[in-house]
Amino acid sequence: MRTAVSRLELRAPRTMRDALRMLRDDGPLTPLAGATDLYVALNFGTLQSAKFLDLWGLDPLRRITVRGDVLSVGALATYTAIIRSRLVRRRLPMLVRAAREVGGLQIQNRGTLGGNVANGSPAGDTLPVLAAADAVVVLRSLDSERRVPFDQFYTGYRQSVRRDDELIVALEVPPVEGAQWFRKVGTRAAQAISKVVMAAVRGPEPRLALGSVAPTVVRLVRTERALASGADVDAAARTLREEISPIDDMRSTADYRRDVAVNLLRRFWEETG
Ligand SMILES: Cc1cc2nc3c(=O)[nH]c(=O)nc-3n(C[C@H](O)[C@H](O)[C@H](O)COP(=O)(O)OP(=O)(O)OC[C@H]3O[C@@H](n4cnc5c(N)ncnc54)[C@H](O)[C@@H]3O)c2cc1C
Repeated sequence: MRTAVSRLELRAPRTMRDALRMLRDDGPLTPLAGATDLYVALNFGTLQSAKFLDLWGLDPLRRITVRGDVLSVGALATYTAIIRSRLVRRRLPMLVRAAREVGGLQIQNRGTLGGNVANGSPAGDTLPVLAAADAVVVLRSLDSERRVPFDQFYTGYRQSVRRDDELIVALEVPPVEGAQWFRKVGTRAAQAISKVVMAAVRGPEPRLALGSVAPTVVRLVRTERALASGADVDAAARTLREEISPIDDMRSTADYRRDVAVNLLRRFWEETG
């Protein structure tokens, strides 16, 4: 462990109100959920913060409910809770599929949906699902609550519109019409960060979202439009190639990512046709 743990401070609020008050008055505090991302930084000695707000005891943030016709998944819902949830299985099976492929069982037991979203890695496996589902991020501060459409949440690489005094409290998902599809391509099935990850919906208006091909998760608006207007999958694949600008990095090359993205599009179209 490269970080001296003795200089770290941890607040453990018992209620949401306490948590939001601490965040506003005692900050800057870094929210800590399952700590599966934060612990990596702690171990590498790259952790920026020294003061943390432990969310783990805030049970209301674990709730998974349907209100009206909106599925609400609490920010503190773990991957295991998502996999076991009948509501999520029925309403958003592509999220269950993504959750099953995150890390190993230990990570699934501790890692949370809110942590994945807040961490904002372009390779985060749930992000394309939330983008394709037109999810809404619910942000709460001591004085107010606001709902931000998922496609307006990220402002750049691991940057978002969340203010320091706000917590992500839930992800809300309206009904999704059509067949849902998810596929992650990595070095191996378990414990691997994706090279490309796609979530898609084949409804009246096809929806496609890709991770690991840009600084943030992207909706493939032009490719969606091509498919919606009746273009065949070859034409849509050409549009997709032009629409994304992946980079070369330690995990993969831009060319490989582009090829994989096109293969995923074809696979989606075949399997849901
Ligand atoms: C071995 C290993 C394998 C992994 N495999 C995968 C994988 O396959 N796919 C994948 O996508 N990820 C993977 N991860 C990354 C990680 O497990 C996920 O991103 C997880 O969802 C993070 O959730 P957490 O609760 O542990 O977040 P934490 O580590 O507690 O927090 C992560 C970030 O989010 C912030 N945060 C957390 N909750 C909130 C909230 N409610 N409001 C505001 N900010 C918040 C924290 O301040 C921090 O910046 C892996 C990690 C490890 C160590």
